[in-house]
Amino acid sequence: MREVDLRSDTVTHPSPQMRRAMAEAELGDDVFGDDPTLNRLEAMAADRLGKEAAVFVASGTMGNLVSILTHAGRGDEIIIGDKAHIFRSEAGGASALGGVAYNTLPNDSRGMLDLDELEAAIKPPDDHFTRTAMIGLENTHNACGGAPLTADDTKAVADIAHRHGVPLHIDGARIFNASVALETPVIELVKDADSVSFCLSKGLSCPIGSVVCGSGEFIQRARKWRKMVGGGMRQVGVIAAAGIVALDDMVERLNDDHATARRLAQGLAQIPGIEIDPDSLPTNLVFFKIADGDPALIMREINGQGVKGGMPARNWRFVTHYGITSDDIDYTLEVMEAACRKHATT
Ligand SMILES: *Cc1c(COP(=O)(O)O)cnc(C)c1O
Repeated sequence: MREVDLRSDTVTHPSPQMRRAMAEAELGDDVFGDDPTLNRLEAMAADRLGKEAAVFVASGTMGNLVSILTHAGRGDEIIIGDKAHIFRSEAGGASALGGVAYNTLPNDSRGMLDLDELEAAIKPPDDHFTRTAMIGLENTHNACGGAPLTADDTKAVADIAHRHGVPLHIDGARIFNASVALETPVIELVKDADSVSFCLSKGLSCPIGSVVCGSGEFIQRARKWRKMVGGGMRQVGVIAAAGIVALDDMVERLNDDHATARRLAQGLAQIPGIEIDPDSLPTNLVFFKIADGDPALIMREINGQGVKGGMPARNWRFVTHYGITSDDIDYTLEVMEAACRKHATT
């Protein structure tokens, strides 16, 4: 049976070229700083993002955690959106491990923060208050439809942050999706941020890994935090080799994922019982609502036909990625149509 896995872009497998590069990678011990393949990846990532230095980490969650721990200490707060991955999906790590408080502001539909609310939320120096030690943006914003923030959005937030002496971190798990969707070089999108983390293991299709980029001094301190959270690496060139292929070959093709996502959204919009705004779809995340029928039954039906994804709740997200073809989209639409028709109540 055909399988179309739309649960996430994390399900992507390494390309044949990545497999070859991994097999042939030159290796050292990264805790001693001498894995040449990893050193190359870190230099390449820093260069691509226009930052002085970079450090490889095991996951996007570790990248955000290490970044927050480097910016903020015990009793400090960070200001982030209420739909931020850092707030909702990272198990409260910065709070549990770093004693850092989360101060959340409402994200708008694109994942942006209100600038007046942000300005008002930053704490002045006062013994009563937590110190605002970091402001965080997410680009693209996962829980806000995968929308990309522009360089101007980031600059507006950074200007406020910097006026108060507060650093800006970008959770750029899918920053390359933002870059290709906006046709803006990634350097432009992050130039006003003090630190950025991005995932190699999502749309860029690596098996493992994320990279944190920032100033040389910031990355040096981040390396110590990475060590403390157990993220010191050894012959990590085996996976860094895939990251190098990803940065060389897998960025432009994200356009294909955005095209299949649009096709999927337009098709879903034609299916009775599904609610979706196909125009609000700039990247590879497709959010829609099962407005009619029991979502748990519809999910079981499509999973039985090899379409992986869905939830026993009304709001669903399908994700397109490397390995999802336009034939897969046609098949998914057929299966979804039949399942929705079968379980329609009206
Ligand atoms: C996936 C994701 C992360 C975390 O990455 P993991 O590698 O799964 O830990 C962080 N931020 C955003 C926006 C994400 O989508």
